[in-house]
Amino acid sequence: MAKSDIEIAREATLQPIAEIGAKLDIPADSLLAYGPHKAKVSFDFLKTLQDRPDGKLILVTAINPTPAGEGKTTTTVGLGDGLNRIGKKTAICLREPSLGPCFGMKGGAAGGGYAQVVPMEDINLHFTGDFHAIGIAHNLLSALIDNHIYWGNALGIDQRRVAWRRVVDMNDRALRQITSSLGGAANGFPREDGFDIVVASEVMAIFCLATDLEDLTERLGKVVVAYTRDKRPILAQDLEAPGAMAVLLRDALAPNLVQTLENNPAFIHGGPFANIAHGCNSVIATKSALKLADYVVTEAGFGADLGAEKFFDIKCRKAGLKPDAAVIVATVRALKSHGGVAKDGLGTPDVEAVRAGAVNLQRHIANVKKFGVPAIVSINHFVTDSDAEVAAVKAAAEEMGVEAVLATHWAEGSAGTEDLAHKVVALADSGTAQFAPLYPDDLPLWDKVRTIATELYGAADIQADQKVRNQFKDLEAAGFGHLPICMAKTQYSFSTDPALKGAPSGHAVTVRELRLAAGAEFVVAICGDIMTMPGLPRRPAAVDIGLDADGRIDGLF
Ligand code: ADP
Ligand code: MG
Repeated sequence: MAKSDIEIAREATLQPIAEIGAKLDIPADSLLAYGPHKAKVSFDFLKTLQDRPDGKLILVTAINPTPAGEGKTTTTVGLGDGLNRIGKKTAICLREPSLGPCFGMKGGAAGGGYAQVVPMEDINLHFTGDFHAIGIAHNLLSALIDNHIYWGNALGIDQRRVAWRRVVDMNDRALRQITSSLGGAANGFPREDGFDIVVASEVMAIFCLATDLEDLTERLGKVVVAYTRDKRPILAQDLEAPGAMAVLLRDALAPNLVQTLENNPAFIHGGPFANIAHGCNSVIATKSALKLADYVVTEAGFGADLGAEKFFDIKCRKAGLKPDAAVIVATVRALKSHGGVAKDGLGTPDVEAVRAGAVNLQRHIANVKKFGVPAIVSINHFVTDSDAEVAAVKAAAEEMGVEAVLATHWAEGSAGTEDLAHKVVALADSGTAQFAPLYPDDLPLWDKVRTIATELYGAADIQADQKVRNQFKDLEAAGFGHLPICMAKTQYSFSTDPALKGAPSGHAVTVRELRLAAGAEFVVAICGDIMTMPGLPRRPAAVDIGLDADGRIDGLF
């Protein structure tokens, strides 16, 4: 039987974190160690790198996945190891996993098989405390809002229009909608409130897009926390909150360095949701990695319709990043699902279904090209894949003028990505990338959403009822028309219907609501049911988790 992820991780020989840092020429005294295998890289050192040239930036994205995930993280790690194996100085950049979901469904988010980052228990649980810092900075602002109301409400906050919820890093559906300040006059003014999971906090998105501590503080100040009775916005800076919030976030904002199973450097920093936020690791980690390594491999959440689009249109646009190549992860099983095969049939060979489902991959290839970024397809190999199915995926990619490479890192580590690594280097070094975002800043918000839906999703048009159309107008009038759009829709389809597989065309995308993230500097277009506080399943993973006789974690992965 195949070893579990945690069994493989435990067999790895980890190097001291100073040795990992040395591979990127980070002096040992610039590493702030959190135990033997985790460290933050000091800002003072990172500041000295500003004039260095940037390495090549490689995005790992994917086709529309099945609920199991198709292996973006695993491929990011495997490709990073493969690049190091062929002698390229490479760092990988990933998001920090959210702790809450680990106790719901079994499984972590630190890669899998022989392509993992370690120490995986730490990375998946408390890690270096960044999520704690983000959660507590968020909740400080919540406390300041209710405290302001309690002490006379000089700003005139309408308690029915508080836009800032509370957060906790646990899947807890009981907290989705609550009533706070109960218990009498001493406890404030009762109002409706609710909790989101920490990764859904706007502080998380701000943390990941901020370029330094000053930018972080300024963005925190711009957060809209509530409205007055006459609907004027109240900002975090009106409550004089940003200074203290930034203090809580100061240490967390330095990027975390860990290693892969093959002892190669990995930055894991920040972890915003990929639906109501942009789903990428921090700008600070990515930019630092580009100064320290010749190649940087990074992952964006969900499929390319959401993840790559937001990576390009939000993160790269705002941070001035210029990606050199994109790797589109495809699996035979997900393409079969796009070709009409039901979940329980995905392990059975079916070349025809792969061929039919390959339209999904082909659309993603065409989409990535629209950003001027050259692409390659990485087929994440599963033991159940047949040679004929793999050949069908390669043929479909070739029809689009793109090469598809079989990658077996999950089973073999870097030995399984050598071929991919050579080809990614050739692509990234080819100088063919001419990155440009999909739409200009000055396009009206409605047209931005429309451009994404028609150009990338194959939609005929977008639609919205009058209330939502007014939101578009109001945001433009309030001076937010220049912001990029953050699309929030299902990751399972190009459309807003998760059951619509393949590459649907001519559908309508309904915008149900707009949400302003003034500090993160994007406008969220909600096009489906978006869950910002997950629940636990009937039998949560938590009931099987415990410590063994040696104090090691059992049942988590
Ligand atoms: P994503 O980042 O796209 O969500 P992951 O890389 O996290 O996907 O992979 C999702 C899950 O699938 C992980 O538990 C991982 O171990 C598993 N997995 C990935 N690739 C393979 C493979 N080739 N064979 C078997 N399991 C795999
Ligand atoms: Mg992932």
